[in-house]
Amino acid sequence: MLPKTLGSGRLKDSVKSTPQKWVKHLIEPATLEAIFCDSKAQLTKGKGQNNLVEIVNAVIDDTDALWAELEPEQPNHACHKGCSWCCHQNVSVTWPELLKVLLYLVKMNNKKSITSLAKSIKIHSQKIAGKSSNHRFDKKLACAFLKGNRCTIHSARPLQCRGGFSEKEQYCRDLLENRTATQSKIQNRTCDGKYLVAPKMIYNSAQLGLSQALHDENLDGNMYELTAAMAILMEHLESKSLNEVTPDDLAPALLTKSKGEYVTSNFL
Ligand code: SF4
Repeated sequence: MLPKTLGSGRLKDSVKSTPQKWVKHLIEPATLEAIFCDSKAQLTKGKGQNNLVEIVNAVIDDTDALWAELEPEQPNHACHKGCSWCCHQNVSVTWPELLKVLLYLVKMNNKKSITSLAKSIKIHSQKIAGKSSNHRFDKKLACAFLKGNRCTIHSARPLQCRGGFSEKEQYCRDLLENRTATQSKIQNRTCDGKYLVAPKMIYNSAQLGLSQALHDENLDGNMYELTAAMAILMEHLESKSLNEVTPDDLAPALLTKSKGEYVTSNFL
């Protein structure tokens, strides 16, 4: 999980003065700072929802480009279409990422399918309320957007999903099917395979840089859980305009720490 957000003005100094702390949290300071500065500059041009989506598109493009540059130097990964063992955990998202997903769904579906999608996402969100990623693995509770082992929002998927790569498919399968034993093997370093660190670090850093830039401009820079937040947004879509949605509306989908793990509220 990412470190707690900093007071905005201290961002640069903190990143530069305590790099070890950031690396420990799988944050790469240069990427964080670049995305923070670029997003802040973009926010001075406008803070409307269209601009927020453009900003998140730019963050995704820049981070994807960085990963494309780094990928040839990294260990091979086994990720492929139709493999979805990792899609059974809490996914942290920012407000602009949520807007991107929502606009994608509205574009790809008619009103009737949006209504039925909203119902199914709400049912999913009720199942995951109050559950950590570990708990979701144990109960095999997938993301609401996983259908037939495919991501139904692939081109609009959040930064966290873009940064998840694994050396071996069996490793992810074991984590889902036999989490405790697999995690203890990871601790004892007797496990074959692992997640790749480099993409995790740069996508984490990009998301945190974006979040910090939003905070700095007095916008909503909170981290929400994808399925839980989309359930709330889809429900609001029926009754009020997106411009009227406030961070208070999304509060139940905030990822908060409970007994050392990040969960959403028990709210529905
Ligand atoms: S958004 Fe797509 S890639 Fe991300 S967890 Fe959900 S189904 Fe998986």
